[in-house]
Formats: sequence, C-alpha cells, structure tokens
Amino acid sequence: MGLLSAGEPMSWEEMKPWQLHVRKYGVKQFIKLYNRLKDEKGRALKWGDEVEYIIVKLDHESRKARVSLKAEELLAKLTVKEELMKEEVEKTGSSQIELLSLWRPEYASYMVEGTPGVPYEGSMSFFNTVEHNMRVRRNELEALLEKDEICVSLSTYPRLGCPDFTFPPTHPDPQNPDNFTKSLFWPSKATFLGHPRFSRLSANIRERRGEKVAINVPIFKDVNTPDPFIEDFSGLGDDGSSANAAKPDHVYMDAMGFGMGLCCLQLTFQADNICEARSLYDQLAPLCPIMLALTAASPCHRGYLVDTDCRWDIIAASVDDRTREERGLDPLVHNKFVIPKSRYDSIDSYLSGCCKNWNGYNDKELIYDEEIFKELCDGGVDVLMAQHVAHLFIRDSVSMFQNKIKSDGSYDEDDLDHFENIQSTNWQTMRFKPPPPGQGIGWRVEFRPCELQISDFENAAVVCFVVLLTRAILSYKWNLLMPISLMDENMKRAQKRDAVLNQKFYWRKDIFTVSEDSDPQIEELSVDEILNGIPGSDYQGLLALVREYMRGLDDVEADTSCTLSNYWQLLSQRASGKLKTNARWIRDYISKHPSYRGDSMVPENTLYDLMVDIDKIQKGELKDAALFVRAERKSKTKDIKS
Ligand code: ADP
Ligand code: MG
Ligand code: MG
Repeated sequence: MGLLSAGEPMSWEEMKPWQLHVRKYGVKQFIKLYNRLKDEKGRALKWGDEVEYIIVKLDHESRKARVSLKAEELLAKLTVKEELMKEEVEKTGSSQIELLSLWRPEYASYMVEGTPGVPYEGSMSFFNTVEHNMRVRRNELEALLEKDEICVSLSTYPRLGCPDFTFPPTHPDPQNPDNFTKSLFWPSKATFLGHPRFSRLSANIRERRGEKVAINVPIFKDVNTPDPFIEDFSGLGDDGSSANAAKPDHVYMDAMGFGMGLCCLQLTFQADNICEARSLYDQLAPLCPIMLALTAASPCHRGYLVDTDCRWDIIAASVDDRTREERGLDPLVHNKFVIPKSRYDSIDSYLSGCCKNWNGYNDKELIYDEEIFKELCDGGVDVLMAQHVAHLFIRDSVSMFQNKIKSDGSYDEDDLDHFENIQSTNWQTMRFKPPPPGQGIGWRVEFRPCELQISDFENAAVVCFVVLLTRAILSYKWNLLMPISLMDENMKRAQKRDAVLNQKFYWRKDIFTVSEDSDPQIEELSVDEILNGIPGSDYQGLLALVREYMRGLDDVEADTSCTLSNYWQLLSQRASGKLKTNARWIRDYISKHPSYRGDSMVPENTLYDLMVDIDKIQKGELKDAALFVRAERKSKTKDIKS
C-alpha cells in the first residue's frame, strides 16, 4: 500500500505544521524530476503483479476458521533471501542470488504481499511463467505454515470483525484512549504492528476526519433477515457515535482494516517514455470498472452477506479522511475545498494528448490547488499533468516520518519523498508512477481495480489479459476513452450484485478511431458484449482483438498459446455468465450450506468449510465446473510443483 519509510511516524497534531512544507517541496521535487526525465525514451517494457495472501488457522475439531496474525513472523523468514542478496550486492557489487519473489507487509497482520522477484519483460514467453511464479510464491509461503494453517488469495475474508475471528484471540478495545481505531469490532492487533506506519495512518485518518470512519454496505436481504435490519451496538462499548453512523439495512463497519485489510490484484507497467505512460494511464482507465465487475469477489463483510459484490467503495470509505466541511455537510470554514471523492477512488482526469482531441473527455470539474497548479505550469509542466498533480495535492499528508522532515525546513531537491508522500496515499483506480530517483526505472502506470481470485489460474488469466491488452492498445493505437463522468457511473454499476449478469456499462464501440471529428460512439453494453463482442456488428470484443493481436506476433510458442487460450476461455465464460464470478460462487456456497439460516449471517462452520474447499480448489484437489474448468495442460516446461 505504498512506500514504507524508516523512522518514527508522526501524529496528526505533530504533522499539522509540516503540511505546507511537504506539499510545497513535494511539488518542487516533482517539477525537477519531470523536467529531467520528461524526454527520456527507450525504456523496455517491464511489468509485474502484486498478490496479497491471507493466513488462515483452521480448527478442525470445532470447525472454525480464523485469520492468523502472524504476518510479521512469516515476513522475517520470507525476506531472508532478499536481505542476503542486499548484503551481497553491498559487499561485491553484484549478486549470485536470483530472487523468485519479494515479500512485503500489508495493512493487516494476517496478510502478506508477494510480487515476482524481478519484473517480467516484453517477450511473449513470460506469459507462460506468470501462473508458475504465482504458484512458487504460494508454495514459499505454504512451506512456512503450520499443519493447521492455509493461505488463501481471497479479496474479502467473510468474518472480519466478528467475535473470535483472529488467532490468537484478540478483542477490540474502543474505550482505550491509546486505541488507534476506536473500533467496536477491529482489534488493534489485527493491524500489522511490525511497522508503525499502519497504526499511525489509521489514527491520523480518524483524527483528520474528526470522527471514526463509517462504512455502510447494504445488507443482502434474505428470507429470514430482520426487516428493517438494525444492529444494537450498546453492548460493544459504543459511545453513541456508531449507532448514529450506522444506517438501517446496512452492515456497518468502523475501521480502516475493514477496507485496507481486503486483498487485491494489482499490475504495474513500465512504458517506453512518459507519453506512452500517459496513454496507458488513460486507455486503461475505462477498463477499470469492467475488470472490477468481472473479477468481483467480495460478497460478505463482517459476517454478513451484502448486496454488493466488490470491495472498492468499502476501501474508499475505510480511508475517507475528509472532514465534514470537505464532504459538503458543513459550510467551508477551516478547509479549502469540498471534495466529492475519498482519497481512495476512481481517477478524475485524463493525462494524455488523446483526451485533447475531443473536449468531452475530461468532463468533470477538477478540484485543484490554483497556487500549486500555477507553480507546476511555471515550472514547465503542461496543463494536463499540472492539473493531475495539483488535484492529488488537495489532500493533506496523513503519514509523515520524523526522519523525512528536516528541522531547519530544508529539503532534498533530488529526492521525491515529499511528492511520494502525497502520491502514495492517493489510492486511485490507476496510478501514474514517476521514476524513483537513482533506480534506473522508467515512467510507470499501475492498474489497481481488480479483485483477487481464489486460484493462481484465475489470477494469471486476469493479469495476462490486461498486459496483452496494453500491448494491443499501444500497437493498434486504440482509443477506449469516454467521459470521466461515465466511468464514475460504471464504477457504481460494477459493484452491484451480479453486475456481470445484470448491468450495462458505458463503452466505446469505435475504438479504432484515431483522429476525431465526431463524437465517440458510446453505448451501454454488458460485460459479455464488451469482452465477447456483439454478434452481427463490427464490434468484435476485447478478447477477439487480443487474439488477433497475438496472431500478428511471431514469438508465441505453442505452449504459451495454449496457456493463454485457456485464460481467454475462462474470461469469456465469466463474462457471458456461463461460469460464476468468485462473488457469486462464494455467495452460493454460503447460501446452500446446511448451517446457513437464510438470515444473511455467515455461520462459523460454513466459513470453515468454505476455507477448506477454497484451499482444495487452489491446489487443484477439488474442481467445481461452475467456477472454472481448465483443460489439462500438456506443458512439459512448467511443472507447478517447483
Ligand atoms: P506498489 O505497492 O507501490 O504498487 P510494489 O513495489 O509493491 O509497488 O509493486 C511493484 C510492481 O511493479 C511489482 O509487481 C513489480 O514486479 C513491478 N515492477 C518492478 N519494477 C518494475 C519496472 N521497472 N517496471 C514495471 N514494473 C516493475
Ligand atoms: Mg505493493
Ligand atoms: Mg500496488
């Protein structure tokens, strides 16, 4: 979830006098870097994925599954090779150790993040190693677990925040003045405490906002769900604020962990140059809601089935540090702007020259700091980029470290730390990543909407599809742009229950249009139509276009081609509804379980069975033809056991 710095993190009060400093010098750092690197070209395509895993402890006797709070202990072991490598590089200048994986902490103490040891490169053969590498990562983690533990790649752990959901047992402590969440449900120890950033960030967000975060997700009303559904929090130590913030007929949550403790699948690409990175940022943005709907995997929260399928709005609310004034509830007195979205949300403006060809793309009034905007423009940054940065910079810093602030008020103009401070806590569907100074890395973009899937097979399918789309988009110069306001609407629709089956999304059909003298042809299409095409029309669908792109390449080995067709089949059948999304599959599993009482509550033994079966599915020991069917692999090169 962004950069981790060494040093003591500051409290909200300690940070207040430094907000201006970080913003002012963050902008100066960006301007300097931008001017130094804006004309740099010729970076190779590199890319990589990020997968988060949840550690689960199974109690076979009482048939309970709990999240196991041992990320810190596991990370100490998972990062040994990386540490050895760093030492070797320091001593000898180079390293004999080739890393297959890198491991990082995440918000919750039951989760770890794994990425490939080195990024993938341009050759098509890498597509045949993605799933293998995911399997290697999972095996590395599994090798460190106890016999009664498993790791799952699940967007949402269904009973987060329920009594007794952790191992070892922990308890929320809302009245304790040192408690950084004040949550009625989230125990402090469920947050990763091995690095002080996460607890500080939670406290700072709450303090800046002026109250606890409030997450309200519509409950899925089943036959025995109370109507209206209203929870009584008085026995949990509520001071009345939770009862006020909780909406009837909604599942209420009150801590950052309910959002940042969810897992996702992210992808980062390095572009040849800044222009290409800007194009990718824009072109992939309209795809975000579509991929969110297709990968939907979050049907339960705090032990209840909910009426939505995706995590996105929940994370948005879980880190929403806007004050009442900024949320438009009170007149602006202390704050500068009314801000329509949380700092975790979909993007608000396009960045590439493409969006200048028609004036309806950036159709939302962009809120930004005029002074910062002017400074960026005066510093040689073009209007679109200046607006983007000035928009990110409407947010305060919510995470500062003592060692990054110099008491004499000076700053390092060649660093990017103050810029990254604001940038890395703006969690949007797409992230435009400037090159980190001195690391030989180019301009990158990150694709962040996808929900995490149960198996490596499904995750690899999603990853390979998005990466190949980027190749096809750049090669054929497609244009997927549509007005930002329509993408916002698509984000709302994407999260609805069974959006793949029931929702239509604004989508551009004339994607081959380069120069535009007329308005884009935007229609409302289903995910099925967007991916699989519209029979009898010229819109063939994204899967056909990716296949066509591959046919034009001469370096696709038969084995890679076979792997990819399996992936395309999965995505095609998910889009058409022939196969269930992870959300629908989990929902059905719970609803059909003999212990489920039709009251929207996920029983403990149901969760236990679900975890056991999910583990078998990801290991290939259990197959459910409603979730995915994979043709037997003939591959000789990649044995997934290594
Ligand atoms: P963050 O958490 O800020 O998104 P991470 O460092 O966790 O970033 O993940 C970065 C991702 O980018 C990983 O998948 C990694 O393999 C990939 N990656 C690393 N170096 C490059 C590069 N030069 N170009 C593109 N992707 C890269
Ligand atoms: Mg990361
Ligand atoms: Mg990331």
